[in-house]
Amino acid sequence: MRLVWRKGRNRSGVGQSILDVPADTLERIAMAVDTPVYVYDAEAIRSRYDELTVALSGFPHEILYSVKANSNLSILRLMRGLGAGADIVSGGELVRVLRAGFAPGKVVFSGVGKTRRELTAAVENHIGLVNVESHDELTLLNEVAQELRTVVKFGFRVNPDVATNTHPYTQTGERGMKFGVPMGEVLSQALWARDQEYLLLQSVGMHIGSQILDASRFRQGAEKLASLIEQLRDSGAEELHSADVGGGIGIQYTSEEGLDAAQYASVIEPLARSTGLKIMLEPGRYLVGNAGYLLTRCVHTKQSGGRSFVVVDAGMNDLLRPSLYGAVHDICVVAGGETDELKLRSVDVVGPICETGDFLGVDRKLPEVKRGTLLAVRSAGAYGFTMSSNYNSRPRPPEVMVEGNRWAIIRERETIEDLMRGEQLSPDVALDWRTGRENTVDE
Ligand SMILES: *Cc1c(COP(=O)(O)O)cnc(C)c1O
Repeated sequence: MRLVWRKGRNRSGVGQSILDVPADTLERIAMAVDTPVYVYDAEAIRSRYDELTVALSGFPHEILYSVKANSNLSILRLMRGLGAGADIVSGGELVRVLRAGFAPGKVVFSGVGKTRRELTAAVENHIGLVNVESHDELTLLNEVAQELRTVVKFGFRVNPDVATNTHPYTQTGERGMKFGVPMGEVLSQALWARDQEYLLLQSVGMHIGSQILDASRFRQGAEKLASLIEQLRDSGAEELHSADVGGGIGIQYTSEEGLDAAQYASVIEPLARSTGLKIMLEPGRYLVGNAGYLLTRCVHTKQSGGRSFVVVDAGMNDLLRPSLYGAVHDICVVAGGETDELKLRSVDVVGPICETGDFLGVDRKLPEVKRGTLLAVRSAGAYGFTMSSNYNSRPRPPEVMVEGNRWAIIRERETIEDLMRGEQLSPDVALDWRTGRENTVDE
């Protein structure tokens, strides 16, 4: 796809200081493509990537961008251009990263429920690594590799039994959770794999959760990985190439402090030193989270039961995080409202969806908002569009990339026709449940 760049406003111009992208560029975008719309700042993504690369420069490492955070092809192309590999969790994401031009050798496949079809696609495309999460999956991968007579490089994603104090739905590294191979089983599975002609163990890794702000959790996990690797080596010369520390680096959404890249690097470094292995990491949110905005307009204001509501044209189908995780995103007025910060009022910013859980922000202090006021929900670059749905038959919003003082649509707004594609007004053929034969309905 060729990007059509349009003129925005130069960053050196007057903009609202709280926004990286000048307010009038956001306003122009909203006028041109309508709202709601996701906007990503390419420069902000680049600077995060550079920050991480500099912090990790003391030891060999490879950054694998976690595609599920934001899988737009233009974002993937940007990551590839920066030198990242890709961490994928489905066959669909495999198609995306290959389309975006990632070398298959720089693709790592994670996830707890890979199907035979997905594993086959991974092996056929000779991807860099399959991170296995159970013995059952390992035996399935072995079958696929035998069928295709192809040697498969794989790693174990272990469950290091490390607790994180994040939202329960974003914890993945504790005993009893569905993720990873229990530490105590890794050795026997590694020995089993060594006897298989087509399996090649290359890596041991973890992914303990998401939005982790406390570096000590990563330290604990890294220490456990280090001792496991030592144990594997003692038991018979495993030719490991890398240790994978997963993603999960926490960012700033409102007043919390994001995990500092240098601090993160300092707790990972001992693993690199003690094992001599290349460290692979799978950041998603860290690279794209703060770089994105969801622009939305106020459609009505109302007072009810002693509360003030700002009803906007984006809902939980567009940005699920507040409803699903109780996530708090900063919301600010971009244009068309009162800008006097002295006149703040407490409002609930809610969407149009028929669910009480449909809100973008509760009890927010905003200057007066009226019909048509343009708002920006900040830090919506990760798990925003990728978690969006068509609930209430709402077409998903377009996505826009800002590059310096230009911008381009990188995904068109969906249409109602897109939503009904493949549906039947009335089915022509039904399956007779007694005979299993197809009968036409009017027979
Ligand atoms: C989701 C996920 C990531 C990325 O997590 P972030 O919190 O976005 O950094 C990395 N690795 C795996 C296996 C994941 O499932």
